[in-house]
Amino acid sequence: MKGELINMSYDFRDLAAFHGVMVFCEQRQGELMPTDFELVSEARKLADDLGTEVIGCVLGGDCSGMPHDIAGYGADKVIVCEDPRLEKYTTDAYAAVICDVVREYKPEVLLFGATNIGRDLAPRCAARLHTGLTADCTSLNVDTEKYIQFLRENSTIDVEKSKWNYEDKGLKMTRPAFGGHLMATIICPRFRPQMSTVRPGVMKKSEFSEAKAAAVKVEKFNVVLDDAELKTEVLEIVKESKKLVDLIGADIIVSVGQGIGSNVEEGIRLAQELADVLGGVLGASRAVVDAGWVTADHQVGQTGKTGHPKVYIALGISGAIQHKAGMQDSENIIAVNKNPDAPIFECATYGIVGDLFKVLPLMIEAAKEAKK
Ligand SMILES: Cc1cc2nc3c(=O)[nH]c(=O)nc-3n(C[C@H](O)[C@H](O)[C@H](O)COP(=O)(O)OP(=O)(O)OC[C@H]3O[C@@H](n4cnc5c(N)ncnc54)[C@H](O)[C@@H]3O)c2cc1C
Repeated sequence: MKGELINMSYDFRDLAAFHGVMVFCEQRQGELMPTDFELVSEARKLADDLGTEVIGCVLGGDCSGMPHDIAGYGADKVIVCEDPRLEKYTTDAYAAVICDVVREYKPEVLLFGATNIGRDLAPRCAARLHTGLTADCTSLNVDTEKYIQFLRENSTIDVEKSKWNYEDKGLKMTRPAFGGHLMATIICPRFRPQMSTVRPGVMKKSEFSEAKAAAVKVEKFNVVLDDAELKTEVLEIVKESKKLVDLIGADIIVSVGQGIGSNVEEGIRLAQELADVLGGVLGASRAVVDAGWVTADHQVGQTGKTGHPKVYIALGISGAIQHKAGMQDSENIIAVNKNPDAPIFECATYGIVGDLFKVLPLMIEAAKEAKK
């Protein structure tokens, strides 16, 4: 560790030596994760504001085909780190290689998905690289004008009364704090790279461009791993046999809240039927998950999943700030609640004031009729 910090060609305080926005692109069993494409799309915007390049970085046993897919979402260059010991994720091997890549390429920004792997890997790398890390970000900005606009739309700060440095191109990393009651913006002004993990599903994936994909520059990185330092070996990966619900990729989510409490079984049955007719999936508020009525993979919100479905149907959900954090960017929101003052109606495209047990059968019937 000491040796790493006094490496003369790498000084984490020499801000001017760092350029480019790098994205750690995670693969599992040879498949890139959807979050990679969201992050690369976001990195493209940041890099354009900085006037710099987007660098994808992928580790694995055989990464062929991956640079093409990463570049199609906006990466200029993809660093490929191939070694049989990188085929399956281990914290020690991945952290060692990523730190080596950072020492060589010196990116000013380094992004990870806040997946299980990203949450494990990013803090380890940040500590070794002697820089800061903001976990679980929901918004990133380098351009001060754009950041002010973000504050105008999402906060109660009186931006006109604050003093701003419009030359500042540091990364402003925003994440929910204090249980979602506050948004905190964190900066890393003294060290590089500026690192953050970003929640899956929060950033929007751009359109895939075949021209960009074809123009990708691929650089093979010389992986140096010392077996003596690799303390873990993955013997087998056992997948959970139960199929988990894919909320992040769903076009239609039908979510239930505590409002189903008077007849839980019937509420879930009806919501699932509506989801099935519409080709959607079943979501839920945390109250429903905490009550043990559905499993945690259905949870939408700050501590659950964030989605951008075309249609989000909220049934008997009050619309707490932590729930809205996971669904308010849906293209259309239909809320059913018997309380006309429920906060969910503030972000709803269509609101139905009524008892969900009476409204749901009508919605199912209408959906079936429309499909005929
Ligand atoms: C740190 C932290 C993280 C959290 N993370 C999350 C998260 O990720 N996701 C999340 O959802 N919550 C989260 N929460 C909890 C959140 O604050 C709320 O408690 C929760 O979302 C409430 O769930 P609900 O809307 O189902 O229940 P309630 O708030 O109890 O609302 C039930 C609603 O159903 C309506 N209703 C009742 N009966 C009917 C009926 N028959 N027909 C129609 N409407 C009816 C009521 O009018 C009411 O509006 C978090 C909280 C904290 C502190």
